[in-house]
Amino acid sequence: MLYHNLSVNDHGHLAIAGMDACELAATYGTPLYVLDEDLVRSKCRTYVQAMRACLPEGSMPLFASKALCFRGIYPVIEEEGMGADVVSAGEIATALSAGFPAERICFHGSNKTDDEIAYGIASGVGCFVVDNLDELRSLSREAQARNVVQRVLLRVTVGLDPHTLAAINTGKVDSQFGVPIETGQALRFVRQALSTPGVEVMGFHSHIGSQIFEATSFCDQVDRLLDFAVAVRDDLGFVANVFNLGGGFAVPYVDGDPNVDIAANIQAIAQHLANGCAQHGYPMPRILMEPGRSIVADAGTTLYTAGRIKTIEGYRSYVMVDGGMTDNPRYALYKSAYTVLNASRMNEPADFACTIAGRCCESGDRIAEDICIARPERGDVLAVLTTGAYNYSMSSNYNRVMRPALVMLHDGEARLAVRRQSIDDLLALEL
Ligand SMILES: *Cc1c(COP(=O)(O)O)cnc(C)c1O
Repeated sequence: MLYHNLSVNDHGHLAIAGMDACELAATYGTPLYVLDEDLVRSKCRTYVQAMRACLPEGSMPLFASKALCFRGIYPVIEEEGMGADVVSAGEIATALSAGFPAERICFHGSNKTDDEIAYGIASGVGCFVVDNLDELRSLSREAQARNVVQRVLLRVTVGLDPHTLAAINTGKVDSQFGVPIETGQALRFVRQALSTPGVEVMGFHSHIGSQIFEATSFCDQVDRLLDFAVAVRDDLGFVANVFNLGGGFAVPYVDGDPNVDIAANIQAIAQHLANGCAQHGYPMPRILMEPGRSIVADAGTTLYTAGRIKTIEGYRSYVMVDGGMTDNPRYALYKSAYTVLNASRMNEPADFACTIAGRCCESGDRIAEDICIARPERGDVLAVLTTGAYNYSMSSNYNRVMRPALVMLHDGEARLAVRRQSIDDLLALEL
């Protein structure tokens, strides 16, 4: 099986962290998001321990809230010693309402409104990642109005696209996020920030992408960020205390995808940075990372009930499920591959070729195309693996389909963390 927390029990059913998927489906209904909290915790620990072991004190992973934002996740990441990165007032409010410490929150976003900036400052978030000059001005105004000095990181783009040849690709210079180094704008951004009242520049932030398998991409990023920091020091005399390297570690979605060794990667990045710093006589900065997907993706499984099964003669068979793009838009958005199992028939051969379609009036509503699962009957429980990241957080009410419930598994017990949306919830906003 793709992950070690999955097994087959005596009923021939899929078990997630030892719990029968069909029983979970019967108890809580489908579609259902299932999150193995213990696996999330072990991922957090891997990051925290690896970073503590080889990076300066104060280095820390921040959970990228956008991957999976609901109240129940925050006590888990807090207890495991992580911070949180957020991109909106909504994410800040969710974290704070769960008791998450504001000083461990890092506030991102390329288009924060003035209201959000004010809310972030008033909430006492530890750090703003300032995306652009215009935001810097707004932040300065709001901070001064409240008589605070807000700590900030400045977001720069290093001109690296890890999904193409790393060599001379400048694709990512052209981005709506951050300020490019290559055009000289980033240096001017820093110069301006250093003389802006109400802000204290701690260092730099850069994020090169997502679902990245190779440590070399991160090492290239570190090289470019360090070169930039050295240029800033030489020109402006400013030495950064913090580098935030963003997120992006990949997870396997289907058999054959490589498994990224998180600890080994962190070690390689740390070693690379230490060498570079020694070479340039630059003091080793504290490192922040922002893993999202690699913390929660593989801990999540979505359970559906198989509905109508339709064979178009000479073409293919469709198995339709009671959810789809409303709870998992990633196939519709990016044609993302997923592993699908017939959780009700784990001991039967997976020899039924089919396409898993959702329930929306949209021909792109698919979960997986041309895969093989054990031949289902209507009522079987289908499990889609690796749905912990960018599923619940990207879900919608398209077709007025209601959002699923989310249960967390911990120490052999299931706990409802998000209840299923109701018709009353759907109508609540409408006058
Ligand atoms: C999306 C994002 C992350 C998280 O990326 P993952 O691939 O989920 O680890 C972290 N930082 C920033 C700035 C992002 O945009």
